[in-house]
Amino acid sequence: MIIDAHVHAGEYYRHYTAAFAEEMMATTGMPPEALTAPEGRLLAHMDDAGVDRAFLLAFDVWRIEGFKVPNEFVAAICARHPDRFTGFASVDAGTPGAADELRRAVTELGLAGLKTAPCYLRMSPADPRWNDVYEVAQELDVPVLVHTGYTPAKKADPRFFSPRLLDRVAADFPGLRLILAHLGTPWTDTALDLMSRHSRVYADLSIFSWYRPAATVAAALARARSLGVLDRLLWGTDHPFCTMTDSVSRMRELAAADSLWPDGTALTPAEYASLMGGAAAGLLAATHGGTIR
Ligand SMILES: [Zn+2]
Repeated sequence: MIIDAHVHAGEYYRHYTAAFAEEMMATTGMPPEALTAPEGRLLAHMDDAGVDRAFLLAFDVWRIEGFKVPNEFVAAICARHPDRFTGFASVDAGTPGAADELRRAVTELGLAGLKTAPCYLRMSPADPRWNDVYEVAQELDVPVLVHTGYTPAKKADPRFFSPRLLDRVAADFPGLRLILAHLGTPWTDTALDLMSRHSRVYADLSIFSWYRPAATVAAALARARSLGVLDRLLWGTDHPFCTMTDSVSRMRELAAADSLWPDGTALTPAEYASLMGGAAAGLLAATHGGTIR
């Protein structure tokens, strides 16, 4: 089973502002209008790439950017295609009622995870305002996917890019399952060290695995292997910022070419299967009562 662990819901004219789309797409070589994932196109891209399921993300940056991809919108797509999507809610801890909104999104809308965007919201992921949100996520046993690493969004605060900020959160909420988005690119060593210290910290490979040179990706995966955390890495694309077919090809290349790897040993079939979906399925199976949804 192939699971893309990082896919953005949302449509260009309906949700995103033009300014945000311009800033975000500038680094991808795609036009701003490409920041759109209408349901039919998204399913077609998944089918083309052989992707069985995607973690589909809401995105609440209303307070700073003046737009959001609402939880209800994501929940409606997931309800229409429960066999293809696992929905992640998004809340802003800088806006009153965030923890209640997460509870409602999980218990009433059926969403199965949380996506947070701390640097976009100009606050640290370790800001105490997140504590009641993390408590609800821990209580409901839903994973929290946190943006870590660089973003070209001009209003984002670079003080809050580093995955190191999650160290305190992982220590304070030992039952919480955290996913570090983009393996903290470019601070991938920091992200891997965090994973080695906290057994419930995962990371996704979106953006990193496609936009960095293949040998750089192989070096990070080899380091993950040596630290014993490779089984908590989840392949993902960040679609529509990266195409699924390109990203799957890159992973196949990494699995096939021993010469790319610092120790001369490419991914084994078991490691490849784990990265491409096994680890993500295991994460879902380990949370909210064992049902994959
Ligand atoms: Zn993303």
